[in-house]
Amino acid sequence: MDLEKQTILIVDDVYFNAKIIEDILCEDYEVVTARSGKECLEYVKSTKIDLIILDVVMPDMDGYEVCRKLKANPATKKIPVIFLSGRGESQNETKGLELGAVDYIIRPIHPLVIKARIKNHLALKNQRDILEKFSFRDALTGIFNRRYLDEALKKEWHGSLRKGEVLSALLIDIDYFKKYNDFYGHVAGDQCLCMVAEALQKSSLRAGDVVARYGGEEFMVILPATPQQGAVCIAQRIQNNIAALKIENEKSPVDTYITVSTGIASTIPMITGGQKELVEMADLALYKVKNNGRNAYQVFLDTDFKKSRSLRPRT
Ligand SMILES: [Mg+2]
Repeated sequence: MDLEKQTILIVDDVYFNAKIIEDILCEDYEVVTARSGKECLEYVKSTKIDLIILDVVMPDMDGYEVCRKLKANPATKKIPVIFLSGRGESQNETKGLELGAVDYIIRPIHPLVIKARIKNHLALKNQRDILEKFSFRDALTGIFNRRYLDEALKKEWHGSLRKGEVLSALLIDIDYFKKYNDFYGHVAGDQCLCMVAEALQKSSLRAGDVVARYGGEEFMVILPATPQQGAVCIAQRIQNNIAALKIENEKSPVDTYITVSTGIASTIPMITGGQKELVEMADLALYKVKNNGRNAYQVFLDTDFKKSRSLRPRT
């Protein structure tokens, strides 16, 4: 396969229809075909596809159903889908677009028009991919993401090292979030993550503080020039602000509402590049909170290092 070319998958139950489009596109793109919805869904599992041209009317599984399935799967939902439909089916255009397709083309097709449209959609996809790659925001919650956090930690570590100041970090984990997700569903789970993220933002008041999503239901707050006592105050404020949200979590063994556990680490940096150790300290403190029943915070103590270095199976 030509690595320079983007790959387009044509899905059509009629060989001749697929062949017409393939002939139009094969000069500029790598073109592959599937004869049914099932085949299409199989194909995208194993091959990276940049765009799908999807016939609407097909036996067994129609184009709408295929699109619905593609959009429901996180691995394939970002592949742009263009519906291709016969004459007289234009009333279904809205339906197709509502399902998440980027375009709806009605036969007979005009080679130059279809070429131009596909070129536009692929250019847009490229831009989205680039933006995502360089974005520092978490797509769901809108707060900083892990990539930004890593950069910020490095920068703050060096700043604190230079100034001889205490750098603190909080690692915050939503208690029994899996139980919450299983019981209330993923949509509610996502809303919960957004509300917690917002409460965290509100809890760290200084301009230099960084609030980021660490991954899953874990968040991190970096507090430059903040000694341990100050970090404890923020952790308390976070617990209070999250309690005030009153997000019901019926299945939580520790409370009727959503709660968090927080690991706190504070240190005066002494060597360059030691920021990972700060994260590890906060992580060990968090591990301790979890072992002690959650819905609380814990300050990292030096002795924790020796005790729990090898005890890190996290849940
Ligand atoms: Mg058909």
